[in-house]
Amino acid sequence: MPSLEQLRREVWAANLEIFRAGLVTMHSGNASGIDRKKGRVIIKPSGMDYDKLRPSDLVETDLDGRKLRGRWKPSVDLPHHLYLYRHCPEIGGVIHTHSNYATAFALLGRSIPVYLTAIADEFGAEIPCASYVDNQGDHIGETILKHMGKAPAILLGNHGAFAWGPTPRAALKAAVMLEDVAKTCYLALALGKPKPLAPAEIRKWYERYHTTYGQENE
Ligand SMILES: [Zn+2]
Repeated sequence: MPSLEQLRREVWAANLEIFRAGLVTMHSGNASGIDRKKGRVIIKPSGMDYDKLRPSDLVETDLDGRKLRGRWKPSVDLPHHLYLYRHCPEIGGVIHTHSNYATAFALLGRSIPVYLTAIADEFGAEIPCASYVDNQGDHIGETILKHMGKAPAILLGNHGAFAWGPTPRAALKAAVMLEDVAKTCYLALALGKPKPLAPAEIRKWYERYHTTYGQENE
């Protein structure tokens, strides 16, 4: 179990990476992480430049959003992150972006079917698109939970995307892979009509990827 300081560095690194990967523009987007034992959430501060962000700038709150540490205001999207942490005990990191290709699908209210083996590998199911809601109260959290499937990511109608995982690092991977597959699907849809993979094939790719791929279980 990493210390709060390690979590802070991991959340800081995830925020830098979404910026470096081109998933966020100016101040949009945010990454957070939770220490379940201590009940502490660490999230990006509101409206700060990513390239100037230091680990000490991140804001620490409890699960009700009360600020416990940090001189800045937390991201305005904190309530949606907290909603996911409160309702999904397996989630340890959350990322929100308006990354262009994923958001193009969201703008049309279109989920992304499992067209690619990379989608089967990483997500194991289609990436659903939740209907548009405003950002008041728990509206975004509620619609994510309602439309959430097996995939650790969702598109939000007319808005953007949320991705998550057991750690902030895993959430980062889901957010980056979401944008990558959305881009490929966008290009293929411009050329013709791709066919989704068959369910048995999706299961095969997903199981291989989650059991034997890589050097160790992350
Ligand atoms: Zn947003």
